[in-house]
Amino acid sequence: MIKKRKMLKVKNLKKHFRVRKKLLKAVDDVSFEIKAGETLGLVGESGSGKSTLGKMLLRLHKPTSGKIYYEDKDINDISRKERKLVQRDMQIIFQDPYSSLNPKLTVEEIISEPLLIHRTLPKNEQNRRVDELLDLTRLPLRSKQKYPYEFSGGERQRIGIARALALSPKFIVCDEPISALDVSIQAQIMNLLEDLQKELGLTYLFIAHDLAMVRHISTRVAVMYLGKIVELAPTEELFNNPKHPYTEALLSSYPELNTRKRKSNIILAGDIPSPLTPPSGCRFHTRCPKALFACSEKEPKLKEINRDHLGACHLD
Ligand code: ADP
Ligand code: MG
Repeated sequence: MIKKRKMLKVKNLKKHFRVRKKLLKAVDDVSFEIKAGETLGLVGESGSGKSTLGKMLLRLHKPTSGKIYYEDKDINDISRKERKLVQRDMQIIFQDPYSSLNPKLTVEEIISEPLLIHRTLPKNEQNRRVDELLDLTRLPLRSKQKYPYEFSGGERQRIGIARALALSPKFIVCDEPISALDVSIQAQIMNLLEDLQKELGLTYLFIAHDLAMVRHISTRVAVMYLGKIVELAPTEELFNNPKHPYTEALLSSYPELNTRKRKSNIILAGDIPSPLTPPSGCRFHTRCPKALFACSEKEPKLKEINRDHLGACHLD
């Protein structure tokens, strides 16, 4: 497997929704890269724009502006044929496996649907491929004729993963893939995702709330706040040496993370502001324990603080 090759590059990506005659800046000018074979973790409070960002990568949302390059190709500027190939390469696993599986279809129909749509295999080979996918996701072959309601939450997530793998993708957005599952099942699904990554050489964007899980699976981690990436660093660097006050606050609410520099528990004041009316200057200044006057005036840019460690704070 070729490692460290650039797989995905995002430049000045924005998604603004029109809501009640106002612009809701769900994702507001983010740029980053994902290397082949790595897992980029993406964390931040609910509403910070993580899912919107993930969906834009798969073209489930059309960006308001900005560029997405997949293997150096601008995915908004390619032929239909090329786009179909890119679509096969990029898949998504959702948080709620129940609502993302059609209840009227059998598992066999659910898993073979992408194969039918993309017509990648002759009919007689589709059967074999479905068996292979059940095997990969550790589901018994007799699952094929059953319906989603006959499975537990963890099994349904396996079905969702099998479907996402049907077209042999290279890149998968995992959007909170374990948040809706029982704690006892979460580790099994995490192990499966890790095994699949190794076996199939997958690249992940891993969105999650659980910082311990993100730390465990990610090569690097990006932190989002109100539509912006405020910090991005290799995983251990981020957990041991967080630079942005927002990252510090997020980490301090997880004392069990056992980071080297233990911070006292920083309680964030108030809720996350509405992205319809984001604060001026640094969007975090209204909740930041270190904010200075300048922070409400000028928006900090994401810049390199240490090697490979990016942060967007005026105090660095
Ligand atoms: P996260 O996944 O980090 O919780 P989301 O990407 O789901 O955040 O949402 C970011 C912001 O965009 C939220 O304020 C949300 O309400 C808003 N949003 C998401 N999808 C839409 C949509 N289709 N129309 C309008 N607003 C949306
Ligand atoms: Mg989300």
